[in-house]
Amino acid sequence: MTFDLVTVGGGITGLSAALRMQSEAPGQTQLVLESSDRCGGVLDTIYRDGYLIERAADMFTTKLPWAKQLCEETGYDDLITVNPEHRRAFLIRNGKLTPVPEGFSLLKPVKLGKMLFAPLLSVAGKCRLLYERFVPARMDESDESLASFAQRRLGREVYERLVQPLIGGIYTADPTKLSMLATLPQFPAMERQYGSLIRAAMKDSDESEKLASGARYDHFVTPRQGFRHFIDHLVSKLPAGTIRTGAKVAAIAREDNAGDDGEANWRIELEGGEAIHARRLLLTTPAHATAELVRPLDGELADELAGIPYAGSTVIVVGCRRDQFRHPLDGFGIVAPLVEKRRILAISFSSMKFAGRAPDGEVLLRVFVGGAVQPEFNALGDDELKQIACEEMQDLLGMSGEPIWTEIVRWGNHMPQYHVGHVDRVERIKSLSDRHANFAIAGAAYKGVGIPFCIRSGRAVVDRLLT
Ligand SMILES: Cc1cc2nc3c(=O)[nH]c(=O)nc-3n(C[C@H](O)[C@H](O)[C@H](O)COP(=O)(O)OP(=O)(O)OC[C@H]3O[C@@H](n4cnc5c(N)ncnc54)[C@H](O)[C@@H]3O)c2cc1C
Repeated sequence: MTFDLVTVGGGITGLSAALRMQSEAPGQTQLVLESSDRCGGVLDTIYRDGYLIERAADMFTTKLPWAKQLCEETGYDDLITVNPEHRRAFLIRNGKLTPVPEGFSLLKPVKLGKMLFAPLLSVAGKCRLLYERFVPARMDESDESLASFAQRRLGREVYERLVQPLIGGIYTADPTKLSMLATLPQFPAMERQYGSLIRAAMKDSDESEKLASGARYDHFVTPRQGFRHFIDHLVSKLPAGTIRTGAKVAAIAREDNAGDDGEANWRIELEGGEAIHARRLLLTTPAHATAELVRPLDGELADELAGIPYAGSTVIVVGCRRDQFRHPLDGFGIVAPLVEKRRILAISFSSMKFAGRAPDGEVLLRVFVGGAVQPEFNALGDDELKQIACEEMQDLLGMSGEPIWTEIVRWGNHMPQYHVGHVDRVERIKSLSDRHANFAIAGAAYKGVGIPFCIRSGRAVVDRLLT
């Protein structure tokens, strides 16, 4: 049998593509091939001892439409928003916790008054921030790193104390390499339009107010019963037999009889030797895996794909009694600036952020280490990681005793890094892959790592393949 579409990879991108195919071309046949024993890719949940533990992502934004649309279209409404209380996070300064100043949103100082009274910055740092209005605008539209942009406009201290931990943390990235055009293009655009970020914030003061306060958390939701529940729901919306798990694709090739006459165009070979035939082929695997699959077909495309670097990160998840902490845990977590030279990137107070994550009287925390900036931590053994997490929690949060339990979740090579030049690389990948008829590539590596972007990516390529 020849399928009208075969999708390789059953992560959120692949599932979104399959659901789109189902709704847009219900008469056509399709198959999703997933190498592991379950769909969802990095999206997965552990349920243990009354705790709900997200292994990777723990929320998505509804400010971008695509995830919300997918929920609406598939009838999934079991979503909760972040807790209304304690909508703030902490930064570390000289080893002590201090709240992220309310007046700052990503790269925009929107409430200067609050910034100037915040204990986070020195007088010199505050003066340099005020001077941002007079820094000449860079009108050149070429790419620049986050570190370069933020230091140039806001000064070194704001970069080191605020921008690096808050934004570098989202992407687990090295900010000296992270591309502004690929991740935060609105800020260079603001610089060109208004000449200054402070002036841009003043022009749009209502929106800026919201973004710089606890209200910005209104946009974040999570499946009440965990991402595994959400993924199972999506899978249940596809006809039985659409997904094959435990099916690792080992090779792809064009069929000799390629043509537009309904004959198979693609031969997909599974590990073990079984061959599957498809008219159209969609790869939603991580870019490094996609590179290996396409290499025999197109070395140039494979090189471009392999040029997208990936970083790993490790999450040490702990369940503890609430009374083990001297700190009230009255926030959603802590981010650690690199200048503080800590051994962690961040700690998320997961059970403070979302209801129903821990039993009464207990708390769930996720400690992040590694990323692109501290890769050596990903290689440590479980005992060493557990010890680091405990020592950091003792020092920062006044934790006493041992956690009730600990889970270590390792994400080696799972975080695509959007380095300077990424946008151009993705353009090249698009034009190289367009040379192959009935073929497309999608996923987190290209135009956005967040869940909504992955969903958009999966849906958009199916629309393209169908036309
Ligand atoms: C630790 C962590 C925290 C995150 N937090 C957030 C967050 O809070 N909010 C947010 O919006 N985003 C977050 N993200 C990002 C987001 O979760 C991911 O970008 C997104 O889920 C990736 O989906 P994907 O389908 O593109 O890729 P993946 O989930 O990687 O799926 C790819 C699939 O392809 C399969 N595969 C690979 N090779 C083969 C093969 N040869 N044959 C068959 N199948 C194959 C894999 O098994 C996998 O299932 C986080 C990511 C990580 C790692």
